[in-house]
Amino acid sequence: MVDLKGQYNAIKDIVNPSIQEVIETTSFINGPKVREFQNNLENYLGVKHVIPCANGTDALQIAMMGLGLKPGDEVITADFTFAATVEVIALLNLTPVLVDVNEDDFNINVEAIKRAITPKTKAIVPVHLFGQCADMEAIMEIAKEHNLFVIEDNAQAIGANYTYSNGEKVKAGTIGDVGATSFFPSKNLGCYGDGGAIFTNNDELAQTIRGVVNHGMYKRYHHDVVGVNSRLDSIQAAVLDAKLPHLDNYNKARQNAAKKYNETFKTIENIITPQISNACTDICDNCDCHVFHQYTLRLNGVDRDALVKHLNENDIPCGVYYPIPLHKQKAYIDDRYNDEDFKVTNQLVKEVISLPMHTELDNEQIEHITSIIIKFING
Ligand SMILES: *Cc1c(COP(=O)(O)O)cnc(C)c1O
Repeated sequence: MVDLKGQYNAIKDIVNPSIQEVIETTSFINGPKVREFQNNLENYLGVKHVIPCANGTDALQIAMMGLGLKPGDEVITADFTFAATVEVIALLNLTPVLVDVNEDDFNINVEAIKRAITPKTKAIVPVHLFGQCADMEAIMEIAKEHNLFVIEDNAQAIGANYTYSNGEKVKAGTIGDVGATSFFPSKNLGCYGDGGAIFTNNDELAQTIRGVVNHGMYKRYHHDVVGVNSRLDSIQAAVLDAKLPHLDNYNKARQNAAKKYNETFKTIENIITPQISNACTDICDNCDCHVFHQYTLRLNGVDRDALVKHLNENDIPCGVYYPIPLHKQKAYIDDRYNDEDFKVTNQLVKEVISLPMHTELDNEQIEHITSIIIKFING
């Protein structure tokens, strides 16, 4: 699904000395590289504060801790996402409230959010799934009206732009009160291990979060709040700092691959190619509202299991993200949910298939992949 080796070979000469430098200076924890990367990412995103941490799941948890959410507070999030989002809500003894998504862009449905709001609702966690933002303009409006926090799960959309209806563009993850991202190796900006970060434009929240990530300390050995130990190590920061200048090109490579896939599948009736929902209406050459963390098709009248098997037999990797709605996962089943309220997610889990998507994918590989799929479908 990804070609991390090919990507590494192309940037070896920058990454290796960057790692070597950390080893030579032995500042493995909170070294200058972490600070450097933090500053560079703040500039890239146009956000006041980036707080690096150990992984994307921690980033979400720490964001919720920083906002002071309390047990029993209800937090609304999408039924169709990776479990990390709902996991941290449950871990903090907050009450997850799963809602359905849109069938066109797979993102959280705004009307479903509105229906789910109760006097106990304290936050909304939109997940920018597969590389494009949820409908942030509408979500921020709902949040304002009901006095709710917005925590963006930006693990899959780093570098994506969100375009407001007035044409103004901002980076995904910098719109809500706080954003969380992951630098897991296969993410759009991945390190060589685990890593994550929290973004915010709120000075006070940033200060609180800087303590939370470090055992609740604001002054050495003074523990003012219950915190966690969640750090981005300096070697990972060195990798990320070497890769950050390439992020736009990496995302561009993904968009080009998506464009090529889309063009090839255009005439195939049983395939619904990914839709761009934002103010960008098409995969345009000069916009980056979708950064294609995954290239996910919907199959209509195709036996997905048979297609997966066929692809595997032809040594073509593929994935089903996600095969089970969160409201049906054993850990998160709850009497509060009515299966009827999750029509879209229930449908999508049966239809979706994600194809290889990475920065090293070339036209020849895409032609090979698409021709095998099209031949299978046309029998
Ligand atoms: C990857 C991912 C996470 C978790 O990130 P980790 O760094 O693996 O902890 C959270 N949410 C979404 C949507 C993700 O894709």
